[in-house]
Amino acid sequence: MKTVVLATNNAHKVSEISNALDFPGWEFKTLREMGVESDPVEDADTFLGNARIKAHAAREACGGFAALADDSGIEVDALGGAPGVYSSRFAGEDASDQDNNDKLIRDLAGVPDGRRTGRFVCTLVFIDEDGTETTARGTVEGRIGHEPQGDGGFGYDPLFWPDVFEGACTLAEVPQARKNEVSHRGNALRTLRAKLEQAHGFDAGQGPEAAVDSAE
Ligand code: IMP
Repeated sequence: MKTVVLATNNAHKVSEISNALDFPGWEFKTLREMGVESDPVEDADTFLGNARIKAHAAREACGGFAALADDSGIEVDALGGAPGVYSSRFAGEDASDQDNNDKLIRDLAGVPDGRRTGRFVCTLVFIDEDGTETTARGTVEGRIGHEPQGDGGFGYDPLFWPDVFEGACTLAEVPQARKNEVSHRGNALRTLRAKLEQAHGFDAGQGPEAAVDSAE
């Protein structure tokens, strides 16, 4: 068995990652399952930089197992790319999803529909036992709504209208499986899977459709 430590304790991310990277002989363990704690300061100014900080910290905390970390957020064009790496604390250090959504609505007050464009971004960093790094980036383009709509998902999902849904609904109004088909994290995982398949000599095409975005 090859053990890969996931630099997260978020149950939803764990199941999405282990389903997307279901390679023969690989097992995924959270930091908690490994019996360690790792909470490094995420002070980089890019998603890639923060994912790298988390992956290296998890690998060191576990004594050299392979490690995988992600970092994600939303970029809004009319706000010059904000909140970006500050997405989880947009409205303050302990901001709730609702606080962040309320601030986004306020900051975009008066901005017409045509200029409410943005994207979710996810960057993954995988570090193998020998220190080899593989990165993947995924995005989903869309528009920011004027008010929250839908109860599913988390974070900014109720305000986000993916272009691929052609105005039918927000990301909070579809089942998780449908979200994974179009989401930034789903796209990043499909890209990472394709790269790891190549690096480790697995048969391509065992899993979800391949790469959408190139790595950063
Ligand atoms: P993290 O990478 O899980 O720390 O995510 C950072 C922040 O970005 C979250 O707290 C959310 O506000 C936002 N975010 C990341 N991914 C999503 C998503 O799939 N839907 C909605 N918000 C997201």
